[in-house]
Amino acid sequence: MRLVVDLNRCQGYAQCAFLAPDVFAMHGEESLLYNPHADETQREQVLRAATACPVQAILVDDLGDASGEGVGREGLSGVR
Ligand code: SF4
Repeated sequence: MRLVVDLNRCQGYAQCAFLAPDVFAMHGEESLLYNPHADETQREQVLRAATACPVQAILVDDLGDASGEGVGREGLSGVR
């Protein structure tokens, strides 16, 4: 899967690093490091992080991809 974080929007709240620590990490107080090619096994965590981000800075480019089957979507109804 591919994802992008709009770093102009990101306010360093670190919700994503908390919810998907294998994909997102804070570097210092405000800068965010992330893996733009996160493994499919990280999909659910990444979607939770995208939903939780207070400024919607996390964009997942293939949300409509049929390969997403099997992902638990409970609680993720806010994901577009
Ligand atoms: S949750 Fe959103 S604002 Fe917070 S660090 Fe992650 S991308 Fe940035």
